[in-house]
Amino acid sequence: MTLQHPQTDKINLKGLTLFELEKLVTQWDEPEYRAKQLMSWMYHRQAETFEAMTNLPRNLRQKLTDIAYVSGTHVLTRTPSNADTAVKYLFELTDGSRVESVLMYDQDRITVCVSSQVGCAMACDFCATAKMGFFRNLTAAEILDQLITIERELDTEKSVTHVVFMGMGEPLANYDQTVKAIRLMTDANGLGIPEAKITVSTSGLARRMRQFTSERLRCNLALSLNGTTDETRTRLMPINAKYPIDEVLDATREWALATQRPATLEYVLIRGVNDSVTDARRLRKLMGRLPCKLNLIPFNEIEGANFRRPELNQIERFRRIVADGHHVAPIRFSKGRDIAAACGQLRTIYEKQGVMMPQVS
Ligand code: SAH
Repeated sequence: MTLQHPQTDKINLKGLTLFELEKLVTQWDEPEYRAKQLMSWMYHRQAETFEAMTNLPRNLRQKLTDIAYVSGTHVLTRTPSNADTAVKYLFELTDGSRVESVLMYDQDRITVCVSSQVGCAMACDFCATAKMGFFRNLTAAEILDQLITIERELDTEKSVTHVVFMGMGEPLANYDQTVKAIRLMTDANGLGIPEAKITVSTSGLARRMRQFTSERLRCNLALSLNGTTDETRTRLMPINAKYPIDEVLDATREWALATQRPATLEYVLIRGVNDSVTDARRLRKLMGRLPCKLNLIPFNEIEGANFRRPELNQIERFRRIVADGHHVAPIRFSKGRDIAAACGQLRTIYEKQGVMMPQVS
C-alpha cells in the first residue's frame, strides 16, 4: 500500500518495504540499488526532501520531487517531566489528527512508546484513550515517523533502543500497518532496532494474536489482562466478551511456545475492583498456565472514570502473593508522572530487562 500525498497525489516513499521500493524504482527505470539508498536517507539520515539526498543524481532527485515525497511529522508540543527523564510528544498528522508518543531514558536504554491508532475502539473502562473513541488507523509511516522524529532530536551519538506499542490505540486492530512498521523498524535498511527490543501490547484480540504468532517475529508480546474472572475483565474490557480469559491466555501461551519467549501479562490494579487477595491468588494460578512474567501497574487516575488506585500497602500485598513462584517486576512509581498527557495513559511506560513497567503517575 502506498500513501498518496493528501494534496498532490504524490507517493510517500516512507513506509514502503525494501521489496515495494525496489519494485517502484525499477518501474521508474532506475537500478534496484536506489531503493536501499533511499531507505538509508529516510531512516538512517532522516532526510525528508530528495534534494538532501546528495548521492542521487540531480535529475533523479528532481524526478522524485515531482512524483513522490517523504512524510514527516509535526511536533505540536514536547512536555518534559520534572520528576524523571521522560518527554511526552504530541504530534499533528497531515489530516490534523493528533497522537502522542513518550520518550523515556534509563541509563543506556532509550525507549519510545508509540501510538498505533488515533483514538481506540476497545472501550476499556479505565483507559483515557478509550474515552476519545476511535478515529482512524495510523499508517506504518505515521508509526515510524514518531520514532524518526524523536530520534532526530536525540544527541547524535544516541538512538532509540526500545519501542513499546503502548500508546494510543490497539496495535493488533491495526494489524497490517503495525506489522509493516515493525518490519521496517527491525530491517537493517530501516531503523535497525532488534526484534527483541520491540514490545507489542494488546488488549487481547486472540485471533490477531494467533496471526501475529505466525509472523515469526521475535519481538515481545504483552497481554493486558487486568481481571482474573471473565465477569470483572468484561466489565473493564468489553473485548473480553468476544475473547474471554481462557481463550486469550491460550493465544498468549501459543505465542510464548512458538517464539520461545515468555509473554508479559499486564495487570492494572484498581481499588476494590481487581485488587483483592482472591484476585492475587487467581492471578498466580492463571500465570501458571504459560511462560510469562507480570507487570503490575497501579491504576493511573484519569478524568471521567470513577476508579481509584489502591493504597500502597494493598499494592504491595497483592504483589507479594503473586510473586510467590512467579516473576513479577518491581513496581515503579516514576517516568513522567507529572506530564499532563492528553490521553492520560502514556506517562510511565518503562522497560527493564525485557520486563515492561508501564503506567504510573
Ligand atoms: N491497546 C493496547 C495498548 C495500549 S494501552 C493494550 O490494551 O494493551 C497500554 C497499557 O496501558 C495497557 O496494559 C493498559 O491496560 C494500560 N492502561 C490503560 N489505561 C491505564 C490507566 N489509566 N492506568 C494504568 N494503566 C493503564
